[in-house]
Amino acid sequence: MVVQKVKGTEDLLADDARAWQYVSQKAYETFGRYGYEPIETPLFEQIDLFVRGIGESTDVVGKEMFHVLASDAYRRLGEGAAPDARHHLALRPEGTASVVRAAIEHNLVPTGGAPAKLAYAGPMFRAERPQKGRLREFHQIGVECLGADEPSADAEVIIMLMRFYEELGVPRESMRLLVNSMGDDRCRPAYRASVRRYILDHADEMCEECRHRADINPLRAYDCKNERCRKVMEGAPRISDALCDDCRSHYRAVTSYLDAAGIVYEEDPRLVRGLDYYTRTVFEVQVVDGMGSQNAIGGGGRYDKLMELMGGSPTPGLGFAIGYERTLLALAAVDVKLPLERPLGCYVAAAEPEVAPQVFAILQALRDAGVDADGDHQARSLKSQLKLAGKRGVAVAVVVGPDELVAGQVVVRDMRTHEQRNVVVAQVPEVVRAML
Ligand code: AMP
Repeated sequence: MVVQKVKGTEDLLADDARAWQYVSQKAYETFGRYGYEPIETPLFEQIDLFVRGIGESTDVVGKEMFHVLASDAYRRLGEGAAPDARHHLALRPEGTASVVRAAIEHNLVPTGGAPAKLAYAGPMFRAERPQKGRLREFHQIGVECLGADEPSADAEVIIMLMRFYEELGVPRESMRLLVNSMGDDRCRPAYRASVRRYILDHADEMCEECRHRADINPLRAYDCKNERCRKVMEGAPRISDALCDDCRSHYRAVTSYLDAAGIVYEEDPRLVRGLDYYTRTVFEVQVVDGMGSQNAIGGGGRYDKLMELMGGSPTPGLGFAIGYERTLLALAAVDVKLPLERPLGCYVAAAEPEVAPQVFAILQALRDAGVDADGDHQARSLKSQLKLAGKRGVAVAVVVGPDELVAGQVVVRDMRTHEQRNVVVAQVPEVVRAML
């Protein structure tokens, strides 16, 4: 039996792989204009990093993590010995915890220094039930801005996110930007407690999961997809009424920066991001139509306690993550295509198998001159070589035949106009380049 790919994973073939390269490149370009440097962190880390950094009570850590064990630890597990913390690893479910770990490990935010602005793009892993727009291996593009607590930093990050989507071609009117403040460790505990009380008071109207959430992560009840729970939560206490003065004025400053930049947003007091580490500003971008329940294409927020929680010195931070696959679905929903056309430049065909060495040499010369060029390795007929060239959409075909070679020449054909002429072998790279 042929082994197949794991459910919830995807192979990116040709244009799909090109689309990922295009979108991630575009992200680095856009974010680069705002001072962001690329960062690549390992695909797996000690599981403890995510437990501490994301929070045990979150679905991501509690239910969706892929555990990784080296074969030795795996064998010992079979013998009943649990792996020690250092050897218990997990595939990364998101990027923030790893980037923050790297920032602490390499002291990227020295005291009094400028903020570290870091951008990443890569695969993430969550053992969720696969469905449209929900994969077990998916891609995220994100940024983290570490070391700035000013509201202008929040506004800059949000503006940059919206610019990125627009540059990719997602029409502004097809997106909804939601913003909220989740308060901080001065005002949130009391708010959390009031939501918990509210859920317990309405326990008989809510699903079992929400009743369970009341004690471990009551704010997650806002995300429940159950219609009855949603209705009940509409009457729940609102964070906007519970913010302390500092959080309120921080939030007001963020929104006035957004107003000044002409960014359209909706204030949504029910927006609470699922991960435990968020403080103050949170935001999410949703697609208005055509994507069903998986309509969040990206989101993020501020996490001023995370660095400290992970053993670094107290350092404010904020960032966002863009769901790549869902962004592609959003583009498809509005019928926008990425500009991926990359026709092969030139095909070099052999009129007879015996000229294969000359074809091989011409191909190398073309590639060395920077031309995308390909040829045949299987001694196909000239007809089938030219058919293949046409199918691959090449602009130019070079036909190498024994008769022309006697005069040191080959035939160069413009596949678009079908005009052709003889060209001296040494001049082929220059002539083809000029034709592309
Ligand atoms: P989160 O890290 O949960 O805030 O997710 C950030 C973005 O990643 C979401 O808005 C989604 O677009 C995307 N995302 C999260 N989980 C998945 C998944 N399992 N499959 C595909 N995209 C996902």
